[in-house]
Amino acid sequence: MNPLAPYRRVTIKIGSALLVDKAGGLRADWLASLAEDIAALKAEGRDVVIVSSGAIALGRGLLGLSALALTLEQSQAAASAGQIALSQAWSEALGRHGIVTGQILITPNITEERRYYLNARTTILTLLGLGAVPIINENDSVATAEIRYGDNDRLSARVATMIEADCLVLLSDIDGLYTAPPARDPAATHIPVVEAITPAIEAMAGGAASHLSRGGMTTKIEAGKIATLAGTAM
Ligand code: GLU
Repeated sequence: MNPLAPYRRVTIKIGSALLVDKAGGLRADWLASLAEDIAALKAEGRDVVIVSSGAIALGRGLLGLSALALTLEQSQAAASAGQIALSQAWSEALGRHGIVTGQILITPNITEERRYYLNARTTILTLLGLGAVPIINENDSVATAEIRYGDNDRLSARVATMIEADCLVLLSDIDGLYTAPPARDPAATHIPVVEAITPAIEAMAGGAASHLSRGGMTTKIEAGKIATLAGTAM
């Protein structure tokens, strides 16, 4: 059975490591196959909202920033250049299925201050009503340390609850939670279903494993708490 079958409104977050290869290029074939799945979900009457990472990873390549660790100014410049390429890639990939995309860049105050929250929610719901797919990312080129999520795991959970999505899907280069970070512990085993986020579950998570990504399992567990407390399955 399709595990997404019961859900009507799905928020899908895509990690940088899936969309961008190690050389900084777009993984266009992967995106094309995901776009097919999104088109199929929509054809069955579901609303789909995408939270896409990858701006900084794409922008690094475009601007020739090869250092492993970027300074804050460099990542903000990379996000600025990369976001254009990212939006274009989404618009082309979904456009092939006749789906229009809308870009929304947000910062935490937008999900937390009521006036902004209501306004962003209305824009996203209007796009959905018009049959479009909103493509959301953090506004990385202007967000400062005090006003940024930094990772799209928690951001996607806030977006999912904001628009009353009944399901949040986090697509990552790892297939789920392990009893320990599998890169460090070869004995780690995969946990197919987490019924409740307990301190024992939280202790299993580690940080980001790739220099292209910001989150890791810790922020995915945080996202799970935000989503499930608000009644959104993850
Ligand atoms: N917003 C960042 C980007 O688009 C990604 C943050 C994350 O990896 O979660 O590059």
